[in-house]
Amino acid sequence: MSLIDTWKCHICGEERPDDKISVLTKPLIINGQVCGEQNIRYCNDRLACIQGAKDFSFFKGGKEE
Ligand SMILES: [Zn+2]
Repeated sequence: MSLIDTWKCHICGEERPDDKISVLTKPLIINGQVCGEQNIRYCNDRLACIQGAKDFSFFKGGKEE
């Protein structure tokens, strides 16, 4: 018995099978400081998700001027 792994896309929020999800690792920047890494999952067959992953961050508003 095998279960198909599914992952939730961080961009569109849909559950997708493992082979449709890719992970983009980006530096986690808070207040201009690199605090670690964030792994953003996105649909690798949807252009909007591929583009969205590039702009996505779990921590918005990190820029203080
Ligand atoms: Zn998606």
